[in-house]
Amino acid sequence: MKRSTAAAAVLVIAASALIVLAYGFFRPEIAVVTLIIYVSTVIGLGLIALVISKLYLVNRSSVGADDFISIGEELNTEIVVWSDDFSYIYMNRQLRKLLGIADADKNDHLKLKNALVKAFGGEGLDTSVFDEITAGGTHETSFQNADGRQISIAWSTSIVKKRRKSSVYLSNGFNLTDLKKMKTSLASANDFFNSAMNLAEIGFIMSTDKKKYAASPEAVRMLGLSTGNVDLKAFRSLIDPSSRIQFDVAINSPPDSAGDVRSVELQIRSADGMYHWYSFRYKSIRATKNTPPLFGGALMDITQEHEKDLLIERLAYIDEVTEIANRNKLMDVGRETYETCHLLSCSYWIIVLDIDRFHIINDTCGYNNGNSILRDFAHILYKFVTPGGLAARISGDNFALLLRDLGDDDLPARTARSIQEEFAKLAVNDFSVINLSCSAGYSKMPEDGDSFLEVMEHAEFALKSASSTVGSISGYVPRMHDSIIGTAELEKSLALAIDNNELQLFYQPKINLSTGRIMGVEALIRWIKPDGTIITPDEFVPVAESSHLIGRISEFVLSEGCRQNKLWQTMGFPEIVMSINFTSSDFYQADLRDKVFEALAKSKLSPEWLEVELTETLALSDIDFAVSQMNKLRELGVKLAMDDFGTGYSSLSYLQILPITLLKLDRSFITDIQHDNIAYEIVAAVIRIAKSKKIETIAEGIENPGQEKILRDAGCDFGQGYLYGKPMPPDKLEEFFVKNAEKTAGKRSDGRK
Ligand code: C2E
Ligand code: MG
Ligand code: MG
Repeated sequence: MKRSTAAAAVLVIAASALIVLAYGFFRPEIAVVTLIIYVSTVIGLGLIALVISKLYLVNRSSVGADDFISIGEELNTEIVVWSDDFSYIYMNRQLRKLLGIADADKNDHLKLKNALVKAFGGEGLDTSVFDEITAGGTHETSFQNADGRQISIAWSTSIVKKRRKSSVYLSNGFNLTDLKKMKTSLASANDFFNSAMNLAEIGFIMSTDKKKYAASPEAVRMLGLSTGNVDLKAFRSLIDPSSRIQFDVAINSPPDSAGDVRSVELQIRSADGMYHWYSFRYKSIRATKNTPPLFGGALMDITQEHEKDLLIERLAYIDEVTEIANRNKLMDVGRETYETCHLLSCSYWIIVLDIDRFHIINDTCGYNNGNSILRDFAHILYKFVTPGGLAARISGDNFALLLRDLGDDDLPARTARSIQEEFAKLAVNDFSVINLSCSAGYSKMPEDGDSFLEVMEHAEFALKSASSTVGSISGYVPRMHDSIIGTAELEKSLALAIDNNELQLFYQPKINLSTGRIMGVEALIRWIKPDGTIITPDEFVPVAESSHLIGRISEFVLSEGCRQNKLWQTMGFPEIVMSINFTSSDFYQADLRDKVFEALAKSKLSPEWLEVELTETLALSDIDFAVSQMNKLRELGVKLAMDDFGTGYSSLSYLQILPITLLKLDRSFITDIQHDNIAYEIVAAVIRIAKSKKIETIAEGIENPGQEKILRDAGCDFGQGYLYGKPMPPDKLEEFFVKNAEKTAGKRSDGRK
């Protein structure tokens, strides 16, 4: 550039000199002057040019080649400026270092050229790489550096100067070596991660919107998915219907639960086409400024563990006799279901069922037959289980059915009726004489209680509050508790009533079925309010039992019963047995014998005319103590009767152990005895067995002559019921004595005319 400018200047000067000389030739007179002017003009112009050029160079020096080179030396990127005839090569320090060129050799042209071929991915003197490098775009090359490390550089080349013979280029390198290493290690980390998940057999599913799910390779493998992208519907369809509700709970758990890790066990159809058990541990991660919300979790096949668990569960949660769930299982499932109801705003029914008079069936038909009835009942219940529900045996003859509510309020009653119908059909072959029936109580959750236990207790409460004892179906209604709410009030006024002598004994006659003669009375307590209202014991005895008041009531009954009986004897009425009722709390008093002894002594009643009625449940609490208390009373000479026989859980075997003298058949058998074969069979069997043990029998609740006849024919000794007389005050009983004496006067003492 400088040379061409100088040549041009020389040419201009030479041409102008020739013109000046030619002018001097034609005008010799002014030739010398012209030459002087010319020479001085050339010198002047030269000086100006020099000054300008100096000035110009001074201005340009801020971006001069030297500066460019020194900047290039400091840059942390690889730079090479080269001409394609290789007459000029400048490499910056970064590139030289990479290629192993010492600073001393930075101008060694040959070394630089060989190094450049290498840097551009060529070998030896292969210059074809330069054509590729200059072809435009970015070119990735790789080579070994001086330390033997594989280096990768992306070159971007641009032309700096285009010349006819050779052009100058600037190649700017971007070192990819570290990036590539990072990428490789990331890829291997990913591989490592996938292999680890594969070894551990843990799959993942994740979703940002809970609609579309990304499944990890291991999840794809485990579930046999065709792709790693599945939508909710497709995923849900793989889940066993019985597990779907748990899955729904999982994905619908509120976003507040972000951070919580929950887990659920699901049965999911897997690659082998079978349902496997998976533990799904899941959580939600809230959205951040840069990331969307994330929901998902890890899936682990726990089929084997589950099978083991099933075995353990079988032992812990399956009822041995019926092979359906037991009470523990019901409580666990019930608690979970209760939670589910809250989470998913759904509801469930719990129906509690009781086989009517099962203990009697057990006693009369035998233990094995009893078990077989329990099993058959369980199978019937099982048929009514719908997804998410459960059938369980809670205890003895009590069962429960958990049913999903589908908005049909009649469902529990209808189901209970269907169960009753199915159950009644079982009364064939061995059980043809039995009327198989069951009663049911039901409640709804979550509305009928603050916990599953409470909801279930309310269903049981409904079952017990049903008026009819056989085949009742009763739904829980909160007002059933009204009577309980009034308990505290009742307790207070009962205490006052005792102080004010408002309690009185009524007496119900007991008749010798052979002679028709009165043989005794049962003292039944009444609370007669000052306004004349009579309150029956069913209304206040349970309240008295749950407080200390029962002790005072029993003391009154004992002393008044003895006093009245002695009075009748002294009045000349026939000698009869006075029966009084004791509750278990009375019976378990350590000084029971002393109290009875005192009452007899005080009234001067001979002990043979006093009988104590006890219920079966009483003997159940502590059989040894019960027997010892009974023996103490027997030693006094007092009689002992087993009341309401057949309503508790006792078995006939108690008759072997308990020192009782009389067995009172519960009214419920007598009510049905004319139409119900099983009731008759039971009564007849019990009478036979009692006779063989020298225990007398009395039937409660005889209301018509038909019942009386059957009982008499079956060998029952005594009868009590409205047929003879309702419980009545003492003066009415005195009238009864008289009438009874008249009526039976003509009869022989053995009952025959
Ligand atoms: P319980 O000892 O089984 O008494 C028999 C109940 O059956 C009596 O009811 C009696 O009135 C009723 N009954 C008798 N014959 C018939 C009949 O033919 N048809 C019908 N429908 N009912 C009949 P009550 O007097 O209401 O007594 C109910 C229960 O209260 C008694 O059952 C007994 O468990 C308890 N109780 C009564 N008095 C006392 C008492 O002084 N002390 C204690 N601890 N409990 C008592
Ligand atoms: Mg009684
Ligand atoms: Mg009774």
